[in-house]
Amino acid sequence: MHYLSPYPELPAARDRFILDLRGPRPPHDPWRYQGVSVEDELTERGERARVGTVFLTGRECPWRCAMCDLWRHTTHADTPPGAIPAQVAAARQLWRDNREQISRIKLYNASSATGCAVSRPIATSSDAPRSADTKRTTR
Ligand code: SF4
Repeated sequence: MHYLSPYPELPAARDRFILDLRGPRPPHDPWRYQGVSVEDELTERGERARVGTVFLTGRECPWRCAMCDLWRHTTHADTPPGAIPAQVAAARQLWRDNREQISRIKLYNASSATGCAVSRPIATSSDAPRSADTKRTTR
């Protein structure tokens, strides 16, 4: 049992220690987002804005923090080129269909509230510039 084993010294062994504690990864379609939400939030100017959030399906964060379960909502490999923009486009279409007046969009990988999981899987993907463009064009 791992919880009776000492925490390993070396990084590779620590990775294995964490991975061995995990169950199987649920399958996810990299062309479909995990979820969306719409909320009113305060802007940097103290005004109210209608903000849409897309919980993207993206590659797992490379870190293996013991308490983190975000990997359950991610893919093992990089998303294919075009998959992230397609997820964002699908979310925007949903909001248009529901006549939501979104003025800003936030992108999270799975359910990361801190954005730490977004950094590598999205920022280093070939889709990054196009995904970032969605922050400026929300209609
Ligand atoms: S998403 Fe954040 S908490 Fe989870 S493993 Fe990566 S760095 Fe750690």
